[in-house]
Amino acid sequence: MPARQLAPGNLDGAPVSSYDIGIIGAGVHGLSAAYHLTRRGVSTLILERGRRAGGPTGRASGVVRAYYTNRFLAEVARDSTAVLADLAGRAGDGSGYVRTGGLYLHAAGDAADVRATAAGLAAAGIGHEVLTPDDLARRFPDLNLDGTAIGVWERHAGHADPYRTALGYATRAVALGATLLEHSRVCQIVEGPRSVKLLLADGSGHEVGRLLVAAGPWTAPLVAQLGVVLPLTAERHVVAGLRHAPGDTPRAIPHVLIDVQHGYYSRPDGAGRFLLGPLAPTAATDPDAFAADITGAEHAWLAARAAHRAPVRGRAVADGGWASLYDVSPDWQPVTGRIGERVYVDAGTSGHGFKLAPVWGDHVARLLLDDADARLGQFSPGRFAAGTGLASGFGAARILG
Ligand SMILES: Cc1cc2nc3c(=O)[nH]c(=O)nc-3n(C[C@H](O)[C@H](O)[C@H](O)COP(=O)(O)OP(=O)(O)OC[C@H]3O[C@@H](n4cnc5c(N)ncnc54)[C@H](O)[C@@H]3O)c2cc1C
Repeated sequence: MPARQLAPGNLDGAPVSSYDIGIIGAGVHGLSAAYHLTRRGVSTLILERGRRAGGPTGRASGVVRAYYTNRFLAEVARDSTAVLADLAGRAGDGSGYVRTGGLYLHAAGDAADVRATAAGLAAAGIGHEVLTPDDLARRFPDLNLDGTAIGVWERHAGHADPYRTALGYATRAVALGATLLEHSRVCQIVEGPRSVKLLLADGSGHEVGRLLVAAGPWTAPLVAQLGVVLPLTAERHVVAGLRHAPGDTPRAIPHVLIDVQHGYYSRPDGAGRFLLGPLAPTAATDPDAFAADITGAEHAWLAARAAHRAPVRGRAVADGGWASLYDVSPDWQPVTGRIGERVYVDAGTSGHGFKLAPVWGDHVARLLLDDADARLGQFSPGRFAAGTGLASGFGAARILG
């Protein structure tokens, strides 16, 4: 159906526009959902309090992998990776996806879970190999494999550019008729019998048939005004950049490395540079008052672990970094589903939601249009109160999903 025209209306005296679907949040999830709605002809309004992809999406590391313990998420990641690969070559609004392969290293305590996960990958047709210590020593002679009992190599893992990917979804959604309003902070949500009214900080208002709240770490406080309590917290997480000495560049690790044994991940970042980040949870923080810079101690913690695993990394020098926010659910899995008659939520991606977004946005669009895939039900916001939280990851590395 064609996008509706702005209609005169009234929201306590504010000028009002009306759309079939409203989305709060122009991160990669809100924008992907907007694209999948507009390509179905649904009139869609996206409200973003800052700039598109200006929140955690634009600060993500961009690791792309389908190594998930949750079978449905593995399949979503597999299919999203194919989309990211398809978009990779586009100028401007491409994804920046680079296929490097990914290596996952585990201690003995994870072996049974690794084999179960690998069986799931095999059933989903996700290209991978389970590696013994001998295999690992032969294939990765430059790595220190002390204490590593089992590894997995995933063929299509790699990295992409979350900011560019999100901008691409915004461009395509707007080209298909979506309205994207930046610097438009939603202050008040009023759910009525026939619509949801949204009041913005600038005094303007909008009326939508259904509302998707995809506001990342700000989702829980926003929906609290509807009397909905979502057990989501914001966690500050860092990304450290390091640069190899010029002579070491040819020996840089050219692939994604998820070192579950030592609690960090890494990915290449162009010639001679790489990024590191931790796998374990951190304390809950205030999303409106957190330190956006990485500290020297945080950088050093990550660099030391990377150096232990790969001696060549011990000679690399610090080269920038940053901190941003994960919106974390109690089981570290997405929180996606209906929370009112006309209100839906897609949040709680717990630090691993970028690479899911291309296909997850299609699932969210279907959810909003009463055509949900039954497998999405396991991510229902009601699961925590119902005591049906999900399993995720390996030990403290629940971020592996
Ligand atoms: C440091 C870091 C590294 C990461 N690395 C990876 C990775 O390697 N791979 C991976 O898959 N994932 C990664 N992630 C996770 C990924 O970034 C998130 O899962 C994903 O970006 C979530 O997207 P989103 O659209 O749900 O939320 P967000 O990006 O948080 O977007 C929410 C938007 O809502 C807006 N908003 C909030 N309140 C309002 C309001 N009242 N009115 C209007 N707008 C509002 C915000 O301004 C924001 O732009 C990482 C995250 C971080 C922080």
